[in-house]
Amino acid sequence: MNLPPHLSVQGGHLVIGRHDLVALAQEHGTPLYVTDEQRICDNYTRYQKALATLYPKSKVLYAAKANGNVSVLRALGKLGAGADVFSPGELELALSAGMNPADLLFNGSSKSPGDLALAVAHGITVSVDSLDELHQLDAAAKAGGKKARISFRVNPALHIPTHPKIATGVTSSKFGIAHDKILSAYREALACSNVVPVGVHCHIGSQILDIEPFVKAAEVMVRVAKELTGIGVVLEFIDLGGGLGIPYHHDTDPAPTPEEYARAVVPVFVEGITAAGISPALWVEPGRYLVADSSVLLTRVNSVKFAHKNFVNVDAGFNLLIRPTMYDSYHEVIVANKAASPATETYSIAGPICETGDILAADRLLPAVEAGDIIAVLDAGAYGFAMASQYNCRPRCAEVLIKGKDKALMRNRETTEDITSTMVTPPWQQ
Ligand SMILES: *Cc1c(COP(=O)(O)O)cnc(C)c1O
Repeated sequence: MNLPPHLSVQGGHLVIGRHDLVALAQEHGTPLYVTDEQRICDNYTRYQKALATLYPKSKVLYAAKANGNVSVLRALGKLGAGADVFSPGELELALSAGMNPADLLFNGSSKSPGDLALAVAHGITVSVDSLDELHQLDAAAKAGGKKARISFRVNPALHIPTHPKIATGVTSSKFGIAHDKILSAYREALACSNVVPVGVHCHIGSQILDIEPFVKAAEVMVRVAKELTGIGVVLEFIDLGGGLGIPYHHDTDPAPTPEEYARAVVPVFVEGITAAGISPALWVEPGRYLVADSSVLLTRVNSVKFAHKNFVNVDAGFNLLIRPTMYDSYHEVIVANKAASPATETYSIAGPICETGDILAADRLLPAVEAGDIIAVLDAGAYGFAMASQYNCRPRCAEVLIKGKDKALMRNRETTEDITSTMVTPPWQQ
């Protein structure tokens, strides 16, 4: 199997950077997420460079929901990344990670009055998703004695080749304002006294392995930008969103690169803004591309069962990695302590959750597995721990961060006590 450069096999063990994953599992217990900070930095730098080489006013805003650990945000913030934040929690995380408020965009289709007030208080640009929200934000800005900087989220209504649950720039999605209604939305914003439209935003979906939809979206966005300029909107940025996919099937998926993305999208962008006579910044919001391949989920084999299929029962399930269950996603798996052994048996990797759908990986050819082995689930860094739950009263696991020779916890393992501590006993049960 092809491995990315930060993963290797040494002495029969799977290794991340300079760290033996079997040893990390022994030291910290399982289940365990292990993340390579250097890989995240390398992915970010590559993305940023690919765009800035072709258009210097390019900015990468990390989509914080992909991996919301503050250590990840801090690492990216140090390199100059901004962030796409989708909740007050993500907004506060990005600020506490030291990111510049001017480099944040507050997205979301359902913001509460509290969310809007928070954005106003911190002076964060808001990507507005409806006219109702526009007027609520105008009122919140007035109440806060400030002017709110906004973009609208445009729904470019394209065909997006990805899993339907993560296709957003399609007519039927809940996100954004239809591209043919966007002009009147901006007119309404221009008429608001406490709101200043400064950008325009879209995000068409996630895990997209084909560059063409991004090009189509860019075409729609520069056309909209030209029309907006015509009605007097002064655009400081055009945000083309995230969504570049990664090759979860290491040996067979297409692997579009940031350079390919930039080479296809930036010329369309530059031609469009030149025609409009403007020079706004180009913003993008990758999440998955920056973090997915930086993490592995380590899970210990509890038992092996030979039934109608061969099951490897492990200690992590969809409580810790829901993507296979929710999106039928594929993740490569490696027996970390037998990484150089020949694959001879076919197994399905089953989690400990009380649901038939709790299968992390189906029908994989692996070396003969036995209790105590450590299974590494690759590419678990995006929408992995971020979507973890305490279902079945299972505490969420620890996360280790490595960088070069260093390694440290970036999140403690929860205990059952952490789960029960927010439960209160109603008086009649006391
Ligand atoms: C989720 C999301 C992203 C990031 O998507 P990826 O597929 O992880 O790159 C970017 N922008 C918005 C608005 C999002 O909701």
